[in-house]
Amino acid sequence: MSDRYAVFGHPVGHSLSPRIHSLFARQTGQDLLYDAIDPGADGFVAAARHFLARGGVGFNVTVPFKAAAFDLADSHDELASQAGAVNTVRREPDGTLRGFNTDGIGLVRDITTNLGHRLTGKRLLVIGAGGAAAGIIGPLAAQHPETLFIANRTADKARALADHFQRAGLPQPAAVALDGIDANFDVVINATSAGLSGASLHLDPAILAPGCLAYDLVYSDRPTLFLQWALTAGAAMARDGLGMLVEQAAEAFLIWRGVRPDTGPVIRSLRPP
Ligand code: NAP
Repeated sequence: MSDRYAVFGHPVGHSLSPRIHSLFARQTGQDLLYDAIDPGADGFVAAARHFLARGGVGFNVTVPFKAAAFDLADSHDELASQAGAVNTVRREPDGTLRGFNTDGIGLVRDITTNLGHRLTGKRLLVIGAGGAAAGIIGPLAAQHPETLFIANRTADKARALADHFQRAGLPQPAAVALDGIDANFDVVINATSAGLSGASLHLDPAILAPGCLAYDLVYSDRPTLFLQWALTAGAAMARDGLGMLVEQAAEAFLIWRGVRPDTGPVIRSLRPP
């Protein structure tokens, strides 16, 4: 019988994860099934336990269940502990659940390997202080940038996130309000959900240094509002989060199956012509 995996989210109908993991499985000759499950706003823990009781061996978690998945897991890898959020769960041989966070690894691999953009020694700005930002700050800091800023609409949340990383023993990122950014950056990463509701971030074009990469964690068939703004404002390169999505999935696949799929063909097959 095939091993069963799933992604839990609310909503989850738009998720590309089932397609990505079935492409990985075909490419690597692994026998698995991967579903998308929407347990409703309050049903994650019960649905995850039901899935495991019926033989599920691992699952991914997306918005809004990453903090709940952290609480559900019995143990965590270092990146999940740093972030306080889990996007990948593996059932261990003794039945306990181990939580991982592969979002930051996926982002760094997409920027450095797929896009060929250096992060080491660069000035980085992360906009947003929610679950996605929490998952990417540690892996970005591990690239040894010259500076790492977090800007958020609710400035207190940016400060709380920066303090959290200092307590975790990482160099403290600088925290600023969204309307108080007075420096420019080589890489500007949008980790907000603003674009999903059609809201603009009202950013000053002066935050983009010459040659800047603008990266939106959100992926879409058409350029997102943030990427449209960045190209108009003078960014040298503007990319959405499709590559990150495939790379974080590849890391989860490695954790579950012990084999790393080749992500390039999968990204190309998902990217609209
Ligand atoms: P979240 O925890 O709900 O956080 C949302 C963030 O967006 C907060 O910082 C919030 O600011 C900000 N925000 C929302 N509306 C805004 C507006 N109108 N103006 C300014 N800021 C606004 O969500 P999340 O889990 O961090 O996810 C963020 C996005 O990343 C989602 O769209 C998700 O799909 C995407 N994502 C993509 C990948 C991938 O693999 N490509 C992986 C993870 C996440 P406040 O604190 O002020 O409310």
